[in-house]
Amino acid sequence: MDKSCLVSDTQTVPREEPFVSSYRLGAHELGRGKFAVVRKCVELASGKEYAAKFLRKRRKGEDCRSDIINEIAILEMARFSPYVVDLHEVYETNSEIILVMEYAAGGEIFEQCVADQDEGFTEKDVVRLIRQILQGVLHLHRSNVVHLDLKPQNILLTSNNPLGDIRIVDFGLSRRVDAIKEIREILGTPEYVAPEVLNYEPISTATDMWSIGVLTYIMLTGVSPFLGDTKQETFLNISQVNIQYAQEEFEGISDLAIDFIKCLLMKNPRKRMRADQCLKHPWLSSPNDCEALEETTIEEKEVEAPELSEELVLLASYTV
Ligand code: ADP
Ligand code: MG
Repeated sequence: MDKSCLVSDTQTVPREEPFVSSYRLGAHELGRGKFAVVRKCVELASGKEYAAKFLRKRRKGEDCRSDIINEIAILEMARFSPYVVDLHEVYETNSEIILVMEYAAGGEIFEQCVADQDEGFTEKDVVRLIRQILQGVLHLHRSNVVHLDLKPQNILLTSNNPLGDIRIVDFGLSRRVDAIKEIREILGTPEYVAPEVLNYEPISTATDMWSIGVLTYIMLTGVSPFLGDTKQETFLNISQVNIQYAQEEFEGISDLAIDFIKCLLMKNPRKRMRADQCLKHPWLSSPNDCEALEETTIEEKEVEAPELSEELVLLASYTV
């Protein structure tokens, strides 16, 4: 992607003294990507735990420092959102930049998504967590930033048992939305990318909203809705919005939840709900009862939100 859409102004000054003079590194890795390793560490002065992301500056023979600075700048912009991981400090060596972040002890929500049903999320949990994800994403979108890699591996929890709060991580693909000129490569992970990404069409904040639709589906059912046997099949499923709301997977899940997902998995990005509209959707504004429908007038819904299913509109007119 064109480097001009990277954010380059940061406030954090990278420290140049050795990282290990201030931190003790934990033995095991918390995670690993193509160009980064994340390890738990303890700050010697405070005894506090952090997560350190070690990012290589040179990748495939190319200088990628500006990509890492972009990641730092975006974490700084999101500093005031409680649902975006907190950046503590930054170190720089000849070969690496190290981001010292708040440690999210509950790990990836991915683990609960693939867990057996009795250990997975309940719909009530998902309502609470999706609301937090939306508040974090709304904060980003209001700052004109798109995440572009929202998936269960990049959404962490502060604790596991009891279930804590959300922390959004991994701003490696994030961009200033007003600066994106064109896309020449497919960003993100196939299962979660929006149709416009596959078609090399303009990316916008709506691109994240698609991923939140996929995320909600997975958190509720444990199933990845567009995943095919091959990458091609997955891409085809996405561009045709080939999705099923099978009875067995959605057993016990409310119609409001399905309606919420449908309002996000719309091929046309302009028809998708925005983050602020999602937070007003009856599934989230009042879980498990219909009070929310009384709060928002039908008129408002018709203007702002994409069409609700017939059933819901009926329900709305009944309660009003
Ligand atoms: P990558 O760009 O390589 O995907 P991420 O920032 O997503 O890097 O980090 C990789 C993995 O490391 C995450 O999926 C998560 O499991 C773990 N991780 C990242 N940040 C933290 C954190 N602050 N606390 C705990 N684990 C983390
Ligand atoms: Mg990641």
